[in-house]
Amino acid sequence: MIRSPSHFVERDGKEKESDDRDRETRGICMETQTGKRLVEKSVNFQKTERIPVLPITCVCNMQYAGKRYIDCLLDPIEYVEAEVQCFRRFGHDGVMTMLPMEAVGEALGAKLRFFEDDVPALNDDRPAIKEPKDLAKIIRLDRDIKIHHRIRFLCEIVSELRQAVGDEAVVMAYAFSVFRLAGMLRGLTGLYSDLIRRPRFVKELQNFCLSKCIEFALELIKAGADFIIVTNPIANMDCISRKMYQEHVHPYTKMLFRAIKQAGVILAFHPCGVWDDRFDLLIEEGPDVLWVDKVDIGWLKEKFGDQVCIMGNVNNVSTMLQGTPQDVENEAVDCITKGSKNGGFILSADCMLPRDVPEENLQALVNVARNFGC
Ligand SMILES: [Zn+2]
Repeated sequence: MIRSPSHFVERDGKEKESDDRDRETRGICMETQTGKRLVEKSVNFQKTERIPVLPITCVCNMQYAGKRYIDCLLDPIEYVEAEVQCFRRFGHDGVMTMLPMEAVGEALGAKLRFFEDDVPALNDDRPAIKEPKDLAKIIRLDRDIKIHHRIRFLCEIVSELRQAVGDEAVVMAYAFSVFRLAGMLRGLTGLYSDLIRRPRFVKELQNFCLSKCIEFALELIKAGADFIIVTNPIANMDCISRKMYQEHVHPYTKMLFRAIKQAGVILAFHPCGVWDDRFDLLIEEGPDVLWVDKVDIGWLKEKFGDQVCIMGNVNNVSTMLQGTPQDVENEAVDCITKGSKNGGFILSADCMLPRDVPEENLQALVNVARNFGC
């Protein structure tokens, strides 16, 4: 039985007034546009009254709300409460669904490890495809991922979040990149060695994964997500060459992005790691937003800043987790100064915020965006 989240989302006039007063005391400017509108305008390079800010709080929110990860994995409303409380309290412009991102892999037979108070992880010792011939078995099983309990769970969170924030904020959700899902099913060592020894099999595997990645993204959109984030931490410069990327990753990413964008949502790509020699290929794949990790935003803005909205990139470990609010402010101002000329910029950390990010550091990040230009 799912409890209604209305007790923490519906605010009468008085609550709204006290919320506004609270924001004033925290040094945040009053404003007239919703976070969702600001994000949409930034993505379209239109003028905004301030810089939008989208910290990804799907891990630290539970810590702030005093909830354990495992409890939220058992009850979607526990998670929605934590994320909405976090959104109301810090005042950023979007809410984010819960991890595990591995849901599609799990629905197709990959095994996860679960922990009491941390994000579930893939069990690499037991890949679903131990040998190439196992792919045929998975295809034959023809599993409907849409009815898998973890996919239903994530979609329920998305729809509860949408109900909770309405049009005030964007509802963000992680979708899968095709190469990442292939790695999840085959295991990373297997996939990297297949790239050299069995390139044709890698293509067969990705043809199968592409359809599942599209199905999953469209389910999230149907549930209410309007800001889809695709990540790929296994195809950066430390993992594969540009040539391999171009042949094996680029075509599938393009097809996935086309399908997601046809659904009319904002599509962000998060290239985890160093991608300096292949940003041109990423731009060609057509994301609306590049949520960047380890890159000089000034350089990126100069080179591609008129083609894609840039999101980032305050360091999430040395600054957000280990720094002071002043460090966060300095780095956030630097990002905005370098990245926001002529629009098309969203402030964020350079990756998902770690669980133990101090609350005052998150508030400092949000305050910089909310007060920039006031
Ligand atoms: Zn990352």
